[in-house]
Amino acid sequence: MNSIGKQVLNALKNEISEIDYQRYVKQLTYDESESKSNIAIFRAPNPLIANWTRTKFAEKIAHLFEIKTGIKPSVSILVQSTAAQTLQNTATNAIVERPSGGSLLNPSFTFQNFIVGDSNNFAFIAAKNVSEKPGVVYNPLFIYGGVGLGKTHLMQSVGNVMLSQGKTVIYTSVEQFLNDFTRHLSNRTMDRFKDKYRKCDLLLIDDIQFLSNKNQIQEEFFHTFDALRNENKQIIITSDKPPKKIGGLEERLKSRFESGLVADIQPPELETKIEIIKKKCEINRVKLDREVINYVATIIENNTREIEGILSKLNAYSQLMGVDITIEFARNVLKEQMAEKRSNITTDLIMDTVAKELNIKPSEIRSKSRNSNIVYARRIAIYLSRSLTPNSMPQLAQYFGMKDHTAVSHTMKKIQELMKNDEDFRIKVEELSNKVSMATPE
Ligand code: ADP
Ligand code: MG
Repeated sequence: MNSIGKQVLNALKNEISEIDYQRYVKQLTYDESESKSNIAIFRAPNPLIANWTRTKFAEKIAHLFEIKTGIKPSVSILVQSTAAQTLQNTATNAIVERPSGGSLLNPSFTFQNFIVGDSNNFAFIAAKNVSEKPGVVYNPLFIYGGVGLGKTHLMQSVGNVMLSQGKTVIYTSVEQFLNDFTRHLSNRTMDRFKDKYRKCDLLLIDDIQFLSNKNQIQEEFFHTFDALRNENKQIIITSDKPPKKIGGLEERLKSRFESGLVADIQPPELETKIEIIKKKCEINRVKLDREVINYVATIIENNTREIEGILSKLNAYSQLMGVDITIEFARNVLKEQMAEKRSNITTDLIMDTVAKELNIKPSEIRSKSRNSNIVYARRIAIYLSRSLTPNSMPQLAQYFGMKDHTAVSHTMKKIQELMKNDEDFRIKVEELSNKVSMATPE
């Protein structure tokens, strides 16, 4: 009988590409002795494979465990190494939950490793100030922005500063907070729950938008929040949108969230992306020349999280083939990556998703109707098709029944401008984009 971890990896094999399996997943081993029913630990031979499998497959692995055992564990993919190193290497994005329910911070999420540019300057300075005067300057600090723009990195930077000063830091997601709450409630140990969350020096709650429509936990969080703030303990919150745009959230929580400082992070400019890539190369000890770095910067979209996957891939290939990473080499390797990433998203899928979300018929999107709702949906569908599929502007013009490619180009400019100037609109488009990606059979 195979261990449960092995069974899960076998099941995963059927859900991912052969290349992904052979290159990454096959290299993982399940650590049976360290794993528990709610914590699944895997070992990877090096940090790149650990980071990459964590980013790409941890969620799927957790889900497969849930199917097999009924319990969704937190999945940790650690580098095979000594115990001390293991602690150092834990999680890039994911956080390893200790059995006690506390969390470790990613040690590389520091202010020194954070690249500052116009897009994130404000949030960076705010976080830096908070780390120097926790509980005093801005409480709470609320950081919001799109996926992969460095929110978790910044909040954990404050956490790492305070941790090094011997302070008690809790990093948690809404889900972990909720699980912890439910567990203590059913064990009748609510006093321990209160003790834990109300006695820390710094509480980091990541992705607070998930509080939306969860009433009981909103109530509990509200009391935790007030208790901490009354004692001048620092709270930092991140979200994909500003407080007032979070639906299904009690007004009193919204106003609490706004009562400190609300700081946004915008997508990085090209220069900032380049610097972030250089930094990631340095941390992961990958050598790339300037030309390759610039190339990588132009192909990643706004989500900086892609960088580590790309570096991992370049590094793996060059080691496998024993060649240097030249620009031609990078182009070849990443061409496949771009195709892989996008192959599942089609214009049809985008049209269907947008139509469904905006309550119109897919056929209306391609019609000549000038009805404002339909025009709105059509523009968004065109924008997403251009951003998420390899289709050219002339191809899209044909698909959407437009005059020619200049009409598509005009729509693209219009949408980009709107996204820049209208927060609501940007959030809407990003949500749609996420929905399209999720609607994709991976
Ligand atoms: P978010 O929480 O906003 O989705 P993360 O904080 O998880 O994003 O960041 C995604 C990845 O990108 C992390 O590896 C992080 O270190 C990196 N990153 C994002 N912004 C920066 C930055 N300004 N400087 C250095 N690394 C960054
Ligand atoms: Mg995050």
